[in-house]
Amino acid sequence: MARLIDSYQRRFRYLRLSITDSCNFRCSYCLPNGSCIDPEAERPLNLDEIIHLTTAFAGLGVEKVRITGGEPTLRRDVIEIMEAIHQVDGIEHLAISTNGYRLSQLASRLVASGCTAANISLDSLNPAHFAKVTGQTSNKAVIGGIDASLESGMKVKINAVLMKGVNDIELPNFLDYVRDKPVAVRFIELMRTGDNKAFFDKHHIRAEVLADRLVESGWSPLARSALGGPATEYAHPDFAGRLGFITPYAKNFCDQCNRLRISCRGELKLCLFGDGQESIRHLLKAASQKEELQETILQRLTHKKASHALHDDDFGTTRQLASIGG
Ligand code: SAM
Ligand code: SF4
Repeated sequence: MARLIDSYQRRFRYLRLSITDSCNFRCSYCLPNGSCIDPEAERPLNLDEIIHLTTAFAGLGVEKVRITGGEPTLRRDVIEIMEAIHQVDGIEHLAISTNGYRLSQLASRLVASGCTAANISLDSLNPAHFAKVTGQTSNKAVIGGIDASLESGMKVKINAVLMKGVNDIELPNFLDYVRDKPVAVRFIELMRTGDNKAFFDKHHIRAEVLADRLVESGWSPLARSALGGPATEYAHPDFAGRLGFITPYAKNFCDQCNRLRISCRGELKLCLFGDGQESIRHLLKAASQKEELQETILQRLTHKKASHALHDDDFGTTRQLASIGG
C-alpha cells in the first residue's frame, strides 16, 4: 500500500486539519483585529468532505488527526466531526488545538467523541498580560478549560508563544504551575507571518536562553516519539508536569517533519511556510474519488521542500496562522 514519504525520506503519519478560520480571540501575533468573515468566501469543509478526506489520508498511512483552526470549538458540529473522524479505519489518535475558551463546557463531550489530547494556548498566567495579548478580559475561562480537560482524562499540552517584554519573564510562574499539574507547557518561538512584521520585530526572542536555564536547574531533555510534535520537552523529578520549546528558527528543525496540513477550505499545505496551497476540494465530493484523491496527494508530496526558509525572512504565502491552524 502507498505511504506518504517525501523525497527526503520523511514519513507523514500526522494530519492537521483546520475546520474554520474564524476565531473569538484577537491574539496580537495572529489576528490582532479579530477574524473578519469574507461573505464571498467558500464555506469550510462539511462533515462528508471531512470524512472523505480523512479516509483517504488514513489509507495512505496517516494515524493521527488534529483538529485546529481558527478556533475549532466555534464550529457547532465540532463534536460530530470528532466522532466521524474517530470512526475512520486507521485513525488511532485524535486531538484538538484550541484557545481553551469553550473547554469547560466541551471537554467531556470531546472525550466521549474519541478525542484524547488537547493542545491549549495560554500565553500568560498573568491575567493582565493575557488580556493584553488575546483581547480577552482574563485567562480564567482558559485555566478552567485546562482543568476540565484534565478532569475528563485528556492529555493536555499548553502552548505559550514566547514574546520579549510580554511573557519572557514568566518562566518561574510556569514552573510553579507545572509543579503539581501533569501538563506539558511548551514555549513556541514567535514566527514571522505576512501580517505580523511590526509585532515580530518588537517581540521575537529565541528560546535557547530559557532552555539553558532549565538544564542548569536539573531538567533533562526527553526523547521524541514518531507521532510527536517538534517540541523538545524537559522533565524534572520534583515536577508533575514538563516544560518544552518549539524552535522553528533552529538549525535542522524541519528534518523530523511528520505532518501535513489541510486548510478549512480543503487546500493541501505541504509546509506551514511554503508557497504551495493547492485545493483538493474537488476530490472530496464522493467516496468514489478516493483513489484519485490519494494519487493527487502523493503527487503533490513530491514537491515538499527540505526546509522552510524563515531564517531568510521568507515565510511563504502565510498571512497568519489562523488560516491554516499553526
Ligand atoms: N485557536 C487555536 C489556538 O490558539 O490554539 C488553534 C489555532 S492557533 C493558529 C495554533 C497555535 O499557533 C497556537 O498555539 C498559537 O499560539 C500559535 N500561533 C499563532 N500564530 C503564531 C505565530 N505567529 N508564531 C508562533 N505561534 C503562533
Ligand atoms: Fe485565535 Fe488561535 Fe489565532 Fe489566537 S492564535 S487569534 S486563539 S486562531
